[in-house]
Amino acid sequence: MVQNDILKKYFGYESFRPGQDELVESIISGRDTLGVMPTGAGKSLCYQIPALMMEGITIVVSPLISLMQDQVGALVQSGIRAAYINSSLTMNQLYAVIRNAEAGVYKLIYVAPERLDSELFVNFARKANISMITVDEAHCISQWGQDFRPSYLNIPKFAASLPQRPVMTAFTATATQRVRDDIVRLLELRDPFTLVTGFDRKNLYFEVRRPSDKFADLKRLVTAYDKEGRSGIVYCSTRKNVEDVCAKLCEMGFSAARYHAGLSEEERRVNQEDFIFDRRRIMVATNAFGMGIDKSNVTFVIHYNMPKDVESYYQEAGRAGRDGSPSDCILLYSGRDVITAEFLINKSYEESEQEPAIAEETKRRDLKRLRDMTYYCTCGDCLRGYILRYFGEKAPLECGCCSVCCSDSEETDITVESQKIISCIYRAGQRFGIKVICDILRGSESEKLSGWGLDKLSTYGIMKETSERRIRRIMERLEVMGYIKRTEGDRPVLTVDNSALEVLRGTVTVKARIPEDEVKEKKQKETLVYAADPKLMEILKKLRQKIASVQGVPAYFIFTDATLADMCEKRPCTPAEFLNVSGVGSAKLERYGDEFIGAIKDYCGENPPGEPTVKKAPVNRMKTPEDRNRAFEELERGISQFSPSEENMNITALISSIITAAGVNVSAANLRTAVLEWLISEGYLQVCPDSDGGERKGVTGRSAGIGIFEEQFTASSGKSYTRVLYSPRAQRFIADNLGNIGGYQAAHL
Ligand code: ADP
Ligand code: MG
Repeated sequence: MVQNDILKKYFGYESFRPGQDELVESIISGRDTLGVMPTGAGKSLCYQIPALMMEGITIVVSPLISLMQDQVGALVQSGIRAAYINSSLTMNQLYAVIRNAEAGVYKLIYVAPERLDSELFVNFARKANISMITVDEAHCISQWGQDFRPSYLNIPKFAASLPQRPVMTAFTATATQRVRDDIVRLLELRDPFTLVTGFDRKNLYFEVRRPSDKFADLKRLVTAYDKEGRSGIVYCSTRKNVEDVCAKLCEMGFSAARYHAGLSEEERRVNQEDFIFDRRRIMVATNAFGMGIDKSNVTFVIHYNMPKDVESYYQEAGRAGRDGSPSDCILLYSGRDVITAEFLINKSYEESEQEPAIAEETKRRDLKRLRDMTYYCTCGDCLRGYILRYFGEKAPLECGCCSVCCSDSEETDITVESQKIISCIYRAGQRFGIKVICDILRGSESEKLSGWGLDKLSTYGIMKETSERRIRRIMERLEVMGYIKRTEGDRPVLTVDNSALEVLRGTVTVKARIPEDEVKEKKQKETLVYAADPKLMEILKKLRQKIASVQGVPAYFIFTDATLADMCEKRPCTPAEFLNVSGVGSAKLERYGDEFIGAIKDYCGENPPGEPTVKKAPVNRMKTPEDRNRAFEELERGISQFSPSEENMNITALISSIITAAGVNVSAANLRTAVLEWLISEGYLQVCPDSDGGERKGVTGRSAGIGIFEEQFTASSGKSYTRVLYSPRAQRFIADNLGNIGGYQAAHL
C-alpha cells in the first residue's frame, strides 16, 4: 500500500498535513530524517506510516510512560500491532511482550531509553529485523533542551550493536538551531533530511487579558467553557496558586483536578488519569504537568500567571486543540507576574552552583526572555505574529484570530502622554518607582509627595484626568520600547534612556493600542461551535463515553472531537459514508461503525436536516453544490497563475501547488479526491490491488498519453513500492481540465 492509502485505511485521514508527506517519503526512501514540527502538528504519523510500510520492526524511543501508553493505545485502536516496554510492566508482562515481539507480532515497539541497556531487550533486538529506530521528543538528548534525559545518549550505542544499521529518525517540537545540531550530532544521524515546518497553529485563538480580579475572570471563562462541555488546562506559576485556584473551582462545583510536583506520586497519577479519561474537565497545574499529555480534546489553556518565557508559553498553550478543533489560549496578565518571575530568576542565580561567569550569562539570558514574554502581554501587536516572529518565522501584521486583531481599539498616538511621563521621571531625579511617578503625574495630595517637595515639580498634576491604570500601561509600553528602564532589586526605580530624547523633542511618534479609560467591552469574538449540530454531538459523545468506559480507555482513543464533529456534519448512514468521515479508518469502521451509524440514523429519523441553528466556525470545506461550483469557478479563474513544475510530482504536491497558485481557499483533500475520481472516470487511472492486499490507484493504457506514469522505488529494507507521478505535461493537463473536473464533481454529488 502507498502512504496515502495507509493514511486513510488505518488513520482515517484524507490528506497529509504540511510536511508529513515529505517526511514519510524521505524515511521510506531509507534516509535518516529529522522532523521539527510544532506540538499537535502530527509527528507520530510521520514515522508510524513508514513503520507499516517497511519490513521488520520499528523501535520508538519515547521519554514518558504516559506518552507510550497513549500512542500504543491509539495504534491498537486503529488496528495496528504495537506494544511498549517500560517500567510499568511486570516481569511476566515483559517476557510476554518480548516473546510476542520475537514471534513477529508487532510492527512498532515503544521503549523507554533506559531499556536500551537491558540485556533482555538487547538480545532480542540483535536477533530481530529492526528496520528503523525513531527517537520521539528528540530534544531530550540535548543539554540545551528543556528536558535533558542522559539515557538518550545511549541510543547510538544501541543502534551500533545491531547487525545492520537501521534508518534513524528523530522528531521534536523544539525549534532552536542549537538543539537541532545536538540531535544530529549526538544521535549520529547520517546526512539527514531535515524538515522544519511552520510553527503557526491556525486553530488556536490567542488572547491576553488584564483582569483586575483574576479569579473572577477565570470563573467567567470556565463557566462559559463548562456550558459547552469543554475540557482544558489552567496553568499557575506556583504550587500554592494551583491549590487555591483548584479548591475554589471545586467549591463552586466545577469538575477540576490539581497537579504539581509537590503532590504524592499517587495523587498525581490519579488526577492525571481523571483528566485524561474525562472524569474531570479542568486540570489546574504548574508547568510540571503536560509533557506527554497528548489528550486531543483539550480546547482551552488558560494561564493564570504569565510564564517565564515565550518558549514555555507556546509549548503549554500548544496543548490545546491537538485534534485541530478551534481552541483558546488565554493569558491572564498582571504586572505582579513579572515581579514574581524576576524574583525567581534572581533566586536561581543566587543559588546557582555554576561558575559565576556562566551563572551571570544564564541570568542575563533568562531576564531577556522574560522581557520578551512581557512584551507579548503588553505590546498590543498581533499576538500570533509576535510568537511566530519570535521563533524566527515571517508573519503577517494581522492574523485576524487573536485578541489584538479582534479588538476594537485602534492604535493611537500617545506621544504627548509619553512626553509627560518621561519628563516627570527625569525631573523627579530618576529616583522613584512606578507608584510615586503616577502619584506625581496625577497630582496626589499625599504628605509623602509634599514632604519630598515633589508637588513643586512642573509635571505635578499634569495627568490629573488620566487613570493610574492607563499611565501604567503607557509606562509598560515605553519600557518595552526601551525609552525608560526599571532598575533591578526590591525597589525598582524608573530611569530614562538616552533614546527618549527623541520622544521629548517630538522627532518620533509613539503609538500603542491602549483601550480608553472607561473599560469598553471587547468586541465578542465569534463563538466557536464545534459541531454542526450540538444535539447530535452530545449523543455521539455519550455513545463514545460508553464504549470507552467498557474498554477502560480515554474517550478520545475511540474518536476525537474533531471526528465526531465531522460525523455531525456528514451524518453518515452507510459504512461507505462512515469511512468518509475524517478520522475513521477501516479498523474503526469495523469496530464502531454499526453503533455510530445506528445512533446517527435514529437521530436523523427524528431530526431531518434543517436550517442549521447555530453559526459555524469557518471551515475550509466546499460544502453545498453551489459552494463547490463556485470554488471550482474560482479555481479555474485563478489557475492562469499556475505553471507546472519542472519536476515530476505526486498528486498531493500537485494539488497543493494548484491551490497555492490559484490563491483560492479550498480543501486540498476534497480537491484531491475530485481530481482522482475524475481521472478514474476518464480512464486515466484505475483502482488496482497492491502487494499488501489493499488497494491503490494505478496507471492505465491512457495514462502515458497525458504524462502520468508509475515508478518503482526500493526502500533500504529491500521492499519496493509503486508510486504514481505526474510529469509537467500531466500537471498542465489537470490544471487545464479543472472546469471538466468541476462539472464531473457537480454531476456526481
Ligand atoms: P505531535 O506529536 O506532533 O504533537 P500527534 O502526532 O500527537 O502530534 O498528532 C496530533 C493530532 O493530529 C492527533 O490527534 C492526530 O491523529 C492528528 N493528525 C495527525 N495527522 C493528521 C492528518 N494528516 N489529518 C488529520 N489529523 C491528523
Ligand atoms: Mg508527539
